[in-house]
Amino acid sequence: MNNFKNLRGTVDLLPDQLIKWQNVEKIILEQLFRASIKEIRTPILEMTELFTRGIGEGTDVVSKEMYTFLDRGERSCTLRPEGTASVARALIQNGILNKPPQKLWYMGPMFRYERPQAGRQRQFHQLGVEFVGFESLRSDVEIITLAWDILEKLGIKELNLEINTLGDNTDRSNFQKAFLEWLKVNTNSLDLDSQKRIDKNPLRILDTKNVQTKKLLENAPRLFDFLSEKSLKRYLNIKEQLKILKIPYVENFNLVRGLDYYTHTAFEITSGSLGSQATVCGGGRYDNLINQMGGTETPAIGFAIGLERLILLAGKEVEENRATDIYIVNKGLQAETLAMDLSRKLRNYDLIAELDLSGASFSKQFKKANKLKSKSIIVIGDDEAIKNEFIIRLFNNNNSENKEETISLDDHIKLGNWLDENLLLKRSSINK
Ligand code: ATP
Ligand code: MG
Repeated sequence: MNNFKNLRGTVDLLPDQLIKWQNVEKIILEQLFRASIKEIRTPILEMTELFTRGIGEGTDVVSKEMYTFLDRGERSCTLRPEGTASVARALIQNGILNKPPQKLWYMGPMFRYERPQAGRQRQFHQLGVEFVGFESLRSDVEIITLAWDILEKLGIKELNLEINTLGDNTDRSNFQKAFLEWLKVNTNSLDLDSQKRIDKNPLRILDTKNVQTKKLLENAPRLFDFLSEKSLKRYLNIKEQLKILKIPYVENFNLVRGLDYYTHTAFEITSGSLGSQATVCGGGRYDNLINQMGGTETPAIGFAIGLERLILLAGKEVEENRATDIYIVNKGLQAETLAMDLSRKLRNYDLIAELDLSGASFSKQFKKANKLKSKSIIVIGDDEAIKNEFIIRLFNNNNSENKEETISLDDHIKLGNWLDENLLLKRSSINK
């Protein structure tokens, strides 16, 4: 038989890796909960048109990265490459766009057909936050600080925030006219990729990685010089607030972001410790998207964080792994039934209790408990089963005598007290 393999660019997340993932998710969820941001879940599969229209045909994501196929009803479907368009669709469709304004988050797999490498996969995961119905510049500032604080809470080092403004529609189209003039004059000196973008998506040329084109662009017209007084004031105010909040940033006039729907604020957060795939977070304002998609005009801003890159970067804050509290050693027909029953009772407490199912010798089961570094063990053999009781033993790390007690299987009070005294209260006093 064939040995099956996963598809290129997808990965299995195995139990040991998932400890880190779960800790990262827990820290993120707590932070979002405390900021009163609510979750939204949308389908992974959407109509292709949502993305071609929502994100824009000229973008890399739509033109070459989407997983698109016809379903059995000949409808064109796409595995979502990002979350914003779906969230916008869901809010419009369910009539909950802006009354009241929504602070939302989502987390889950996204799909892009790209060249896989460290921190870049075809199925990857994003956390996204969207503030829908918020216009004030303070919502831009809150979004940026939220992203920043999540990354700091996860112990990510060497964070750099880059910001830019793309102005409003008028600013952008004024700039685009001047930029196109300049591009026409300089077409032959541009790299091929950039040449192709002139007709499709000229703004994206600003984002080029080509060194020569980059150099050339230093003499191109700058979007910044085409900002209206209002847009400029908005931007200056945001920078002022970031200064007051002590969030360090650098301005990057070439930061345009890959998707078409952005206006005003655009930002990215990179980490110096990430090598080439340095961007962990990308975000910006998208005041036109919802209107373009058929909803009433609704200002909005959001960001997305790539979880794979977070996992690569996260500090020791996310390494914590809770050891087994109780390992239940059991052997003999009657003993095994009683042990099963006891393990269910133990799950009413906030404890990790593992029932040995091997039927192996006591010494083998003890070894397993040792290997797991279980804090205590319960032993039930035939002798105990006959007396309807079990032995519970706490292991001491400091060589003092291990504490042991015999408890009747019906004596819930004694069991509860023992667990409180030896495992539960101890843990909560450490956590405090
Ligand atoms: P990049 O320039 O790295 O391709 P992007 O601009 O395409 O990023 P966004 O669409 O802004 O990325 O997505 C937000 C975040 O999602 C990125 O900053 C990154 O952390 C993560 N991300 C994007 N594409 C991938 C991928 N293929 N694999 C893993 N993470 C990804
Ligand atoms: Mg990309």
